[in-house]
Amino acid sequence: MTATILTRVLAAGPEATEAAARTLRAGGLVAFPTETVYGLGADATDATAIARLYAAKGRPRFNPLIAHVADADAARRLGRFDDAAEKLAAAFWPGPLTLVVDKADGCPVADLATAGLDTLALRVPAHPVATAMLAACGRPVVAPSANRSGHVSPTTAAHVVADLSGRIDLVIDGGATPVGVESTIVACLGGPPRLLRPGGVPREALEQVLGAPLAAGPAPAGDSAPGGGSEPAPLAPGMLASHYAPRARMRLGATRVAPGEALLAFGARLPDGVGDAVAVLNLSERGDLAEAATRLFAHLRALDASGAAVIAVAPIPRHGLGAAIADRLVRAAAPRG
Ligand code: AMP
Ligand code: MG
Repeated sequence: MTATILTRVLAAGPEATEAAARTLRAGGLVAFPTETVYGLGADATDATAIARLYAAKGRPRFNPLIAHVADADAARRLGRFDDAAEKLAAAFWPGPLTLVVDKADGCPVADLATAGLDTLALRVPAHPVATAMLAACGRPVVAPSANRSGHVSPTTAAHVVADLSGRIDLVIDGGATPVGVESTIVACLGGPPRLLRPGGVPREALEQVLGAPLAAGPAPAGDSAPGGGSEPAPLAPGMLASHYAPRARMRLGATRVAPGEALLAFGARLPDGVGDAVAVLNLSERGDLAEAATRLFAHLRALDASGAAVIAVAPIPRHGLGAAIADRLVRAAAPRG
C-alpha cells in the first residue's frame, strides 16, 4: 500500500530540472516528458526506488525496464555495444529507439531494473526536458510510462496527474509529447540484431542503416500489455531469455524444507526443517514486501549458486508488491525445455 504523498507539478525549466535531479538522487519518483510518452523515472541504481515505482504504478509484474541516459557515452558505460548497436546508436540517438545489449562489467543498474537479466535496455531520449534532467541527475533513470498499470500511456502532464497524483513526488510539465508511441526495441547481442517491439523508429529505417533485414518480427496479437504498449516478441530459445530463471527447480508455498533444499524465506517465522536447508536467505525478515522486491533477484541468484537442486520458497502474501513477486516466482518455477 502506498501512502499518499504530495505530488508537485513544475513547469519545465532550470528549477524543475534541479528539483527532478535532486528528487531522483534521493530515491524519489519523477514523471517527465520524452519524445514518445511521459515516463515515470526512478534512479536505475536504487532498488528501493524501483520497488517504489512498481508500487506507484500498481504493476503486477516485474518486467525489465528501460534505462534512460543523457547521451551515448553514458550508455556505453553501462552496456557492451556490438557493431550493430554502434551503428543504430549513431543513426538514431537521441531518439525513440531502445537498444538491448549485454550489461557491462560492474554495471551499477539494479537487478530489479533488469528483472534479473544480464542484458540491459538503454535509450537516449530526444526531448530537451528529459535530456537536461538526465544530465543533471548523472545516473541512469528507469522510466516506464507514467500511468497506473492497465491505463493508457500519458502524453500530457495532466494525464500523469490524473493517474498518479498522491503516488509520485514530482511531475515536470513540458507540454504534450510529440511522438506518442513507445520506442522501438532492438536487441543487439552479438548475433543478428532482432526487433523486439515496433515503435517510433520504423523497421525500414533500421534495416537501411544496418544494411540487412532484422531478425524476428513484432509480437503476435494477444501478447500485448493491457492499456496499450505492446510487449516484445517472444524470443527464440537460447537467443535471449525473456525472463530470468534459476537453474534449480522452485517449490513455491513451502511450509517445510526438505533436506538438501535451499530456502527463500519471508518474514520472521521460518518453515519447519530450516536446519536441514543447504542455504537460507530471507527476502525480508520484517515481512516488508518492498524490501522483498529489492532482494528478490539477488537472492534467487545466490540460492541458485548454492548448488541446491531445489529452492523452496516460503509463502508470500499476494497484496501490494506481493503480486509482482508471486508472478515472478511462478514464472521462475515454470517448467522449461
Ligand atoms: P516500456 O517501459 O513500457 O517502454 O516497456 C519496456 C519494454 O522493454 C518491456 O516490454 C520490456 O520487456 C522490454 N525490455 C526491457 N529490458 C529488456 C531486456 N533486457 N531484454 C528484453 N526486453 C527488455
Ligand atoms: Mg505503458
